[in-house]
Amino acid sequence: MIRKKKNPVLRTRLPTLPPAARSRVALGLTAAAALGRFELQQCRDCGAVQYPPREACQRCLSIRLAWKSQSGQGELLAATVLHHSNDLFFRERLPWRLGLVKLDNGPTVVAHLHAAVPAAPAAVRVSVRLDRAGQAVLVAQPDKETSDMAEDRQLREFTCDPRLRKVLVTDGKTAVGQALVRALAAAGAEIVWVGHAEPWKKFAGFDELKSIPQVTLVPLDVTDSKNVRELAAEIGGKVDILINNAELHRAFGIGNRHGVETARAEMDVNYFGLLRLAQEFGPAMRSRGADGLASAVAWVNLLSIYALANFPPHGTFSASKAAAQSLAQCLRAEMRPAGVRVVNVFPGPLDDEWSQLLLPPKLAPAALAAAIVKALRDGVEDVYPGDVAQEWLERWRDNPKALERELST
Ligand SMILES: [Zn+2]
Repeated sequence: MIRKKKNPVLRTRLPTLPPAARSRVALGLTAAAALGRFELQQCRDCGAVQYPPREACQRCLSIRLAWKSQSGQGELLAATVLHHSNDLFFRERLPWRLGLVKLDNGPTVVAHLHAAVPAAPAAVRVSVRLDRAGQAVLVAQPDKETSDMAEDRQLREFTCDPRLRKVLVTDGKTAVGQALVRALAAAGAEIVWVGHAEPWKKFAGFDELKSIPQVTLVPLDVTDSKNVRELAAEIGGKVDILINNAELHRAFGIGNRHGVETARAEMDVNYFGLLRLAQEFGPAMRSRGADGLASAVAWVNLLSIYALANFPPHGTFSASKAAAQSLAQCLRAEMRPAGVRVVNVFPGPLDDEWSQLLLPPKLAPAALAAAIVKALRDGVEDVYPGDVAQEWLERWRDNPKALERELST
């Protein structure tokens, strides 16, 4: 696939969204999809798996329903291609392929059909994706993955694959920033702008970054409103994916330090930095949410598992990340109408200088970068990379109070 230059005479497509109305109970499907999980309701009494989601079991009318993980294996029964639609979103994207799939564990579902799925009958794997409106939809792909699977035109409407896209990474100085840049270049990003706060200084890894062909270093200090505005004026109209990894991390609680300077500096980068970026880059990205292959598609925030529950030895850092998470939810609500996905990343302790005193396992920068690229490819909203983050997520979902206690002892 070659990304063609945009014809400036053609109109810019205004963002339209696929139909978003869902019942309250169907939001269970969306909640799992935000984490990249395919879950359907299963009856605790008779064991039936059902779709679409309902208030009661369609076989025995029990209301004891639980969301259970699904393999998605099934058989394509029939396929069709839409050449006409009364829906604005689909009308812009015709023709569109749909299929009827009988899942191995029971229900028959209507799914968007990947171009590589052969004519019925065929073995397929159904997965759940978030569409541009942020709602869960089902997608059927061939049973066996092929290398160019992600290139499918329909699938790309649900994902934020960095391939052939222009990406801004806000801080190239850190190990995480540099791992991200390498991962994005390897994933086929067309341009990677890399921010560095003090352009007159060389930093460790500088020469290696500069040697990557897609990389352009740009001066970016997220604590400087004027600097953020100037960079947005220069490249804001071209950024397809913005990854805000700029963060300030100090290991202090409340009692072991006087004054508020450190906490203020953390807020200035971790919270106000996000706000400055969102105010300057947000509007341009929102206006480019539907520009075909050249659309703005995603905004990624590097948060922390400590945004969910405070880790007292890193207390002020945790608080700044909790504030950033709340702001990121606001940004998500504002970006959604344009179809731009806000992805929040919640890693556990990283293998970096601020977590030296913590016991392993700690997340390596390269593993975090790989998880972010995968999240963009899968089109998920919330990412908990690594075993520690996954375990804490489960505990927090189970009982937020238990996690708070555990982190404080
Ligand atoms: Zn039942």
